[in-house]
Amino acid sequence: MTTVDLPLLPLGPGRDLSAERGVECPGDLPAASDPDLVARARAAKEALGEKVFVLGHHYQRDEVIQFADVTGDSFKLARDAAGRPEAEYIVFCGVHFMAESADILTGPTQQVVLPDLAAGCSMADMARLGQVEAAWDALTEAGIADSVVPVTYMNSSADIKAFCGRNGGAVCTSSNAEVALEWAFEQKPDAKVLFLPDQHLGRNTAVLKMGLTLEDCVVWDPRRPDGGLTAEELRNARMILWKGHCSVHGRFSPEVVDELRTTIPGVQILVHPECQHEVVLKADLVGSTEFIIKTIEAAPAGSSWAIGTELNLVKRLAEAHPDKHISFLDKTVCYCSTMNRIDLPHLVWALESLVAGTVVNRIEVDPETERWAKVALQRMLDLPGRSHKD
Ligand code: SF4
Repeated sequence: MTTVDLPLLPLGPGRDLSAERGVECPGDLPAASDPDLVARARAAKEALGEKVFVLGHHYQRDEVIQFADVTGDSFKLARDAAGRPEAEYIVFCGVHFMAESADILTGPTQQVVLPDLAAGCSMADMARLGQVEAAWDALTEAGIADSVVPVTYMNSSADIKAFCGRNGGAVCTSSNAEVALEWAFEQKPDAKVLFLPDQHLGRNTAVLKMGLTLEDCVVWDPRRPDGGLTAEELRNARMILWKGHCSVHGRFSPEVVDELRTTIPGVQILVHPECQHEVVLKADLVGSTEFIIKTIEAAPAGSSWAIGTELNLVKRLAEAHPDKHISFLDKTVCYCSTMNRIDLPHLVWALESLVAGTVVNRIEVDPETERWAKVALQRMLDLPGRSHKD
């Protein structure tokens, strides 16, 4: 199965199932009620032995994480996969763009499997290649494309990473966004950055880390003619933020932070930089998933925390640190629905298919896209003395 350029599950009236990826699994998907699922997953994994390497993103369900050989954020997992060349099959329990990154960074004989093709990322899907190319054309017409350096968050499709590679740009993670922006602004005189696809990470980094102002940032809306911006607004901007966001982190609100501070005395608010700027401004600490995990590990017993990131991770942190008071920042925010598409039945189905000699749901990035995406990833890796954790 090659990379599919389709939007993620546009549900509702008038939906076109044939336009969606991942609505069907060839073969038999075990029933979720099957009491033998755990035993089946274990048996299939044992049968595959060293041939399979199972990666589990921090936001995955417990039922899946228990079978992960390693856990981590998207970039760490892709690098872990690259460090296991003897593994013929990489089963990526995460979302589509992560499996693409793993395919880009692993060897040509390694095959990457995503147990459910519907496990996309709504943020990554908010920047489609055609939209970004149209934006680039508009920047060219406005006479500024020559001074624009495109930088894309790791949470983007392979073809957007490749676009950045082709156009002198780079990839960044939530840990190294600041140094990636420093690098980008050094690339050209009067450089501007086109930041894809998460406006919040871009804005938070530009304003809180780089000393830019909110007025230096404009938002390019791909659904409006010319992004909804005038040529003058584009010329005056330092940061052109793509109008994308994470459907989980983008839902935390500043009001809930105020409320928690009154109900939990001494609570420390710890959020991910994909949260809205107004939330980040009110937080005590802001950082990537790895930063959040390390902060909680190092926190003193008895300390109180409210964490604004994906619920599966927050739940596991609370379970692992019963000596600390850990709450989820907002009870109305749900799990990442696409991450949660990877469940035990899909994992069992993928592993048993491999045992039977059939590679299902293979994610394979075409060579040209891979070549340019690697260029953008390498520019990130070449940022001197800088952290690359997501
Ligand atoms: S948590 Fe947000 S950024 Fe991560 S996969 Fe889900 S929608 Fe995408």
